[in-house]
Amino acid sequence: MSDDPFAPAAEAGIHRLAIPTPFAVGRVNVYLIEDEPLTLVDAGPNSGSSLDELQRGLASHGHAIEDIELVILTHQHIDHLGLVDIVASHSGAEVATIDAAVPFVENYAEDAQADDEFARATMLRHGIPQDVADALESVSRAFRAWGAAAHVTRVLTDGDRIELRDRSLDVHFRPGHSPSDTVFLDGERRILIAADHLLAHISSNPLMTRPRTQLGPRGGGERPQALVRYLESLALTREMDLDLVLPGHGDPITDHRALIDERFALHERRAEKLRGLVAERPRSAYELAQALWGNIAVTQAFLTLSEVLGHMDILLNREVVTEVEHEGVVRFEEH
Ligand SMILES: [Zn+2]
Repeated sequence: MSDDPFAPAAEAGIHRLAIPTPFAVGRVNVYLIEDEPLTLVDAGPNSGSSLDELQRGLASHGHAIEDIELVILTHQHIDHLGLVDIVASHSGAEVATIDAAVPFVENYAEDAQADDEFARATMLRHGIPQDVADALESVSRAFRAWGAAAHVTRVLTDGDRIELRDRSLDVHFRPGHSPSDTVFLDGERRILIAADHLLAHISSNPLMTRPRTQLGPRGGGERPQALVRYLESLALTREMDLDLVLPGHGDPITDHRALIDERFALHERRAEKLRGLVAERPRSAYELAQALWGNIAVTQAFLTLSEVLGHMDILLNREVVTEVEHEGVVRFEEH
């Protein structure tokens, strides 16, 4: 038996259950906290095989879904959210999540549809061809059944504390990867449950997400600066004193400051590279994505667009590039 990287968490009563997902990211980490109340952090996507694995994982620790008393949701993404309602309806568990996640979680079908419409409009505005946007929209619709609405019974706000018998968890709002990312700190044990805010094996994609207000300051539904917010959130996490970070996918992180510094450096390099491409000639975000990554798979079109726009936001804020709209398509130019 090799060293289990989750052993220190298990010693603290936090057990990782790796639940399958249909997504490229692979399995999602759900955490069972053996405490009072018996707590599940995230639940996995809404599918029969995920539910089976969740039941098996709980059984291996002597528990059943019916025993769960509290479900904490870390953010609104469907690989974490999908089974929350099933777990809560089988167990009567409380469902706790940050205030920012509540509208999406409670109105999942309508909000997911509105997000897709925002994504489509954003793709067309940034030069992605119509057939690619169409194809991606049907992929997204097909995936929608892996999510499900859930009723939130305990609304958390930044700075709250969740008291369990053997520990307390401080609630810290860390948006960026999604608009509702939240991390939970056991300060006594220096353990942070961070979900997708910080992952060891891949940089967390700050996905562009529909603004909650219909119209932005310019009256056109301005996009939120997901990457800019994400980097601000990472800087806050960097300040925390931690021994162990438990992520939403993959292995735990033991040196969060070094990993966060790597992420800062990666995004700085990428911003510089994009700045160079814009200096050569004006380009749309789609053209920039192609220049960076070549031909992009349809399913990656929105991810890569989010990635490019995130870095363009950094450069726009530094006033080294500008955004010029022509016939409904935006191009970026050197300032
Ligand atoms: Zn996520």
